[in-house]
Amino acid sequence: MASLKHLLGIAGLNPVTVTALLDLAESYVLLNRSGKTQRDSLRGRTLINLFFEDSTRTRTSFELAGRRLGADVVNMSVATSSVTKGETLLDTAATLNAMNCDLLVVRHNRSGAPALLAEKVSAAVINAGDGTHEHPTQALLDALTIRRHKGRISGLTVAICGDIAHSRVARSNILLLTMMGNFVRLIGPPTLLPGSIGINGVEIFHSMEEGLKGADIVMALRLQKERMSSGLVPSSREFFAYYGLDRKKLSYAKPDALVMHPGPMNRGVEIDSDIADDDARSLIKEQVEMGVAVRMAVLDTLARSSEV
Ligand code: ASP
Repeated sequence: MASLKHLLGIAGLNPVTVTALLDLAESYVLLNRSGKTQRDSLRGRTLINLFFEDSTRTRTSFELAGRRLGADVVNMSVATSSVTKGETLLDTAATLNAMNCDLLVVRHNRSGAPALLAEKVSAAVINAGDGTHEHPTQALLDALTIRRHKGRISGLTVAICGDIAHSRVARSNILLLTMMGNFVRLIGPPTLLPGSIGINGVEIFHSMEEGLKGADIVMALRLQKERMSSGLVPSSREFFAYYGLDRKKLSYAKPDALVMHPGPMNRGVEIDSDIADDDARSLIKEQVEMGVAVRMAVLDTLARSSEV
């Protein structure tokens, strides 16, 4: 694999790199499941989790991934850091540089913030979600989950439903899935869809019945109210009636179609509990497990690239 300095997005990766990351992650799934979780490939390295936006799954899973590889992991809570005292992002970068951090995991509500930091810090920067732009480790963990269940990550029809316009998860997934040769359907109301997506292999639908026909995978997305101007969705109840994934709507997809959601879920808004908790159809818990393995693979790969 070509050496990877940072992971700022799926844009910039190629199928060979994606496959190599998934293969490495797969080996970590097996290790994690066997209980031999402790490795020392990042012994002596420092990982800083710098989260300017809330996170449960992503932050915890980067922390666990770093610790399982033997790194020293520091969680910088922005509420207690100098950022709240007016320090700029670049001053923060200079401070982190002075601490000789090796791996910097960044989440920020502004698209492009991790890329800006990457220009200023000597550490390898990993984008853990920036505004509406990208969330590359989510797309990688989704790809790993799909590959494990469908035996491949190409030639599949994947329907992404709901608030596409504000979702960095959707953007990263669209980029990865089309790059690997899948067909992507985007389903949602016109107010929550990009006007045109302009990527080969992506189709837009406003009806769940039409969009889900023949889908192998159905991904539901949270309404990103924190990124919306008001009035884009009439009410949660109406949204659920048209776009909420329930048993009836899932029946439009292939009989063996599987359901995914990046979390956090709003039950009864974009997904019904009956579907979310159905272990025969829902991969949601497994997505969380794959998140740790994928982040181990990413950290390991970036740390090795920085040695050369
Ligand atoms: N956890 C994902 C993200 O950070 C999805 C979401 O928040 O809805 O983008």
